[in-house]
Amino acid sequence: MGDAANPVTGPIGFVGLGNMGAPMCECLARGGHALRLFDLDGDKRRAVAEATGGTPVDSLAELPRGCQLVITMLPDSPVVEAAVLGTADSPGLVAGLEPGAVVVDMSSCAPLRTVALGDRLAEHGIAMVDAPVSGGVPRARSGKLAIMAGGDPDQVARVRPVLQAMGTLLEAGPLGAGHAAKALNNFVSAAGLAAACEAVNIARRFGIEGQRMTDILNASTGRNNSTENKLAQYILNHDYGSGFALSLMAKDLTTASDLAAELGLDTPTLETSVKLWAQARAQLPADADHTEIARLSEPKDG
Ligand code: NAD
Repeated sequence: MGDAANPVTGPIGFVGLGNMGAPMCECLARGGHALRLFDLDGDKRRAVAEATGGTPVDSLAELPRGCQLVITMLPDSPVVEAAVLGTADSPGLVAGLEPGAVVVDMSSCAPLRTVALGDRLAEHGIAMVDAPVSGGVPRARSGKLAIMAGGDPDQVARVRPVLQAMGTLLEAGPLGAGHAAKALNNFVSAAGLAAACEAVNIARRFGIEGQRMTDILNASTGRNNSTENKLAQYILNHDYGSGFALSLMAKDLTTASDLAAELGLDTPTLETSVKLWAQARAQLPADADHTEIARLSEPKDG
């Protein structure tokens, strides 16, 4: 598996140049890392290459050339698995990765699928670390993400200096632990957001202005990340432009719920949240932002 004592060197391959991947690449470039870039969307490849001085490449199999480290920032486990292992139609990253390389999946994925993917990569002498993130687009831009890492501690040590260019590294445990921690974090975040939206909508109907209720929450024990960073910024003004899709939040809740079921735990608050976000996903447009969860409890007559 290569020399685990030494940090990876050379260019970094990066797959998935969306709302999060693009600003994360800019942090890596500012940290002095050369990048090889791939996204299905050719416009994103060109835009991120221009912003970072990185090299856009035309295929997943070509991306890892000369790279000891490839990072994935893709929607979910099925997409990551297809990108890494390939499909019947197109070879994946594994076709181009050398033994001793490490794949770091920074997407929010399903922990047990991550463990299985790590086993598949190990058959090729390739290591895997899961390192999902929290903080959204603003902290992806500022390089202040919370990065929760799972994997062999020697492999995490190899990639630590690179990950620190994007935020603060929190070691969660063995492979899959980062993805488990991320799904659980988003359960707490989603429940807090939904509760904050309902509270503000009730307050408005009672006659308390939305910003006044937000200020009261933020000075009181109901304060949470959503009351501080989402109500005024994206919801009260109907901007709904946080850059985190509602469908991705719903996926994270399902991941958390599947994990609880696999562990045989009763989690009524989580199950209620899963249903609420699934209902929002069914009712709202496919590309809705997660802050649009507020629409479910908005007074129907405005
Ligand atoms: P996004 O939809 O903006 O970006 C995903 C990118 O992957 C797109 O550019 C898409 O073209 C590309 N892509 C899809 N399939 C591909 C494939 N097979 N090969 C190459 N490229 C492919 O999503 P995002 O908001 O950047 O989220 C990425 C991950 O990060 C998700 O798992 C999400 O849950 C997680 N996340 C997002 C946020 C946020 O605020 N947006 C915060 C924390 C974690």
